Amino acid sequence: MIKMSTLETIKSFIEASLTPSPTVFILGFAIVLLLPIFLHYVLHSATPYNTLPSVLLVGPSGAGKTALLTLFERGSFSQSPSETKITTTLGPAPTHTSQTPASVELAVSADGTSSYRDDLDASGSVAKKFLLIDTPGHAKLRGHALSRITPSAASSGSLQSKLKAVVFVVDAAALSDGDALPATAGYLYDVLLALQKRMSRSKGSKAPPSIPVLIAANKLDLFTALPAALVKSNLEAELGRVRRTRSQGLLDSSVGTDDIGAGEEADDWLGEYGSEKFSFKQLLEFDIEVDVVGGNVIGDGPGADKWWKWIAERV
Ligand code: GDP
Repeated sequence: MIKMSTLETIKSFIEASLTPSPTVFILGFAIVLLLPIFLHYVLHSATPYNTLPSVLLVGPSGAGKTALLTLFERGSFSQSPSETKITTTLGPAPTHTSQTPASVELAVSADGTSSYRDDLDASGSVAKKFLLIDTPGHAKLRGHALSRITPSAASSGSLQSKLKAVVFVVDAAALSDGDALPATAGYLYDVLLALQKRMSRSKGSKAPPSIPVLIAANKLDLFTALPAALVKSNLEAELGRVRRTRSQGLLDSSVGTDDIGAGEEADDWLGEYGSEKFSFKQLLEFDIEVDVVGGNVIGDGPGADKWWKWIAERV
């Protein structure tokens, strides 16, 4: 009995759907139009490049970002004359001037203990995948990196939530000569301020997940390189100078507009407002953790294991 009535229902449904009627036409149209859109969203959100957590590599040109990316991708870094940069934003190949950063997909074991040299596929362990995104270090192209930290309202908020950490690579061997320290600190100031604004803007509403910063003091294989502790103190001192200079500019430009000026100045002030000296600790107030860790990609030295471990713990 039940079987018969089910069969009859199916039959009458098929009959109804094959009989030309406005409802059938509208339904048919809706399916034809909406199905591709629905499929697009399903597939789009399933692509790994949209869902993987990411780590942003930033820092001035020549600091070693591409070398580090290559090391993590291949497990070793061989510098042969034929070696070309993966990301040739401003690389040796003059024909390739792409402004889009290169990114590589990396994996670390679920417990975060595997090395970048380990072949996780071969060992069959469960892996956490993430994207390491290289960015151009040249001053004119830095907007790209900064826009990834604070995506505009127009771009999706998910881009921000997938950013797990920022690795700022510095050339520890170049920091002691002339212009390198102010130039590096200037860029670092912009990166840290972007992160700070990201947190302070959300006051009142739900705070976004914090994005920690690793300052990778690179090239410690070179005898001219400053140890990590000195890189840290030199950068803190220089960031303090950058802060003073920039706030002076703000004060000058806001003469006569006291009320507005004070608010804006506080917005562009990195760390504890009004403090004499800058220290990375002041950023903890904004839930931004900054670590300075030494290492090297090429030559003999501490290597890149500590950096990898730092990243692995945060993706
Ligand atoms: P990027 O502009 O930040 O991407 O820097 P690159 O990765 O192109 O590196 C700039 C130069 O520094 C290259 O010639 C690298 O071979 C070199 N370099 C990178 N890491 C190290 C390192 O740990 N030690 C030494 N001695 N040289 C390095």
